[in-house]
Amino acid sequence: KDPLLSARAADLHDVGYRVLRILVGADEQPLQLPDHPVIIIADDLAPSDTAALDAKKVLGFCTVLGGPTTHTAIIARSLGLPAVVSAGKSILSLEESTPIILNGDDGTITINPDEMELKFAKEQKRKANQLRTQAQATANEPAVTLDGHRVEIAANIGGLDDARKAMASGAEAVGLLRTEFLFLERSDPPSEEEQYEVYRDIAKAMQDKPVIIRTLDVGGDKPLPYIQMDEEANPFLGERGIRLCLAKPELLRQQIRAIVRASQFGKLRIMFPMVADLSELKAARVMVSEIESELNVSGIEVGIMIEVPSAALMADILAEFVDFFSIGTNDLTQYTLAMDRMNPNLAGKSDGLHPAVLRLIQTTIQAAHQAGKWVGVCGELGADSTAIPILTGMGIDELSVTVPAVPMAKAQVRKLNYQDTRILAKQALRCATAEAVRKLKLDQ
Ligand code: PEP
Ligand code: MG
Repeated sequence: KDPLLSARAADLHDVGYRVLRILVGADEQPLQLPDHPVIIIADDLAPSDTAALDAKKVLGFCTVLGGPTTHTAIIARSLGLPAVVSAGKSILSLEESTPIILNGDDGTITINPDEMELKFAKEQKRKANQLRTQAQATANEPAVTLDGHRVEIAANIGGLDDARKAMASGAEAVGLLRTEFLFLERSDPPSEEEQYEVYRDIAKAMQDKPVIIRTLDVGGDKPLPYIQMDEEANPFLGERGIRLCLAKPELLRQQIRAIVRASQFGKLRIMFPMVADLSELKAARVMVSEIESELNVSGIEVGIMIEVPSAALMADILAEFVDFFSIGTNDLTQYTLAMDRMNPNLAGKSDGLHPAVLRLIQTTIQAAHQAGKWVGVCGELGADSTAIPILTGMGIDELSVTVPAVPMAKAQVRKLNYQDTRILAKQALRCATAEAVRKLKLDQ
């Protein structure tokens, strides 16, 4: 019944069949493909089948089953392979060799396209490839709009390897280092020393570029075996993020000590997740100040994620106590719309461009700027090509996106006119639905 686990059923089948084939000594059957490029239509593809697809022969695939967050879809994305999933049973009735246009961007297929449709699709594909190549070539240049407004493009990373890739992709900063990778899948907490070494290496890899280290964001649905926690009926509304860390202060203290010590090797900033109330921020700040005095260090910048509606609504008060905000649109959307971000049945509705979410983003940006503080977005919305002009028009200072998305985000900002995006943002805030926001067009 768990939607996340049921979406992983294909992985389990895949591994099961692989083990069985090895046990009975059966040969692996390689996918038999014609020798010209094809689009694969299938009931479903196992993640391992997808990873083994020969990108020279396979132009893309379309499956009856699956979903956008399954491993098959994630692998397709990392291979740059267009894919349409969850297309329904009718696609299996397509005759072999039927020409189709597969559009992974908008999730559509066009069966037996006419000359005009083919020509248009080919032109779109050529332009997309050209844009990607151009974006990579200019990845190290800043993202400045045509009328001179700059937006910093940073990367979300999960470890040292990502930091190196972020540098190569032209990221101007790390807007979010998710530190959970250090704490999960182990039976004891990482020591201060172990954490210090990782943060130091990331600081060095990013050279003089700022790195925001988010303190541990677990609890609720992501329990840690070495922390005593009560069972919760609603883990997403339970003891998670900063709430959990303040309840286990030794864990947070060790992490902050490691960050403050590593800060002598680069420009490290501390960010607290899931702040819902000023008291949490104040308590966390007291801990940072105490540790700074212990270690004889000062001036480390401290910020919070804005991902709980109460924090967005109280942003004017919170702004006085931070150096920056970073808006976590993934959780902000889930909590604003009361839609579990992992529920595949709600995937189509749970949209960060919902005007309610946009209004909270706007409130946050205005409050930050009035207090002279900067604000970024580090949720997935920051890399959404429809959202980028709207967020720019709202005055966002930084977009922090997945590493491969950095060059395209920069390239998109460079084509915008800031004054036009301001008008667009105002229109978006007046829309009634997310669909209406997505239909808005920039006058260019
Ligand atoms: C967010 O909630 O938008 C965010 C960036 O944090 P995470 O995805 O790690 O919850
Ligand atoms: Mg979050």
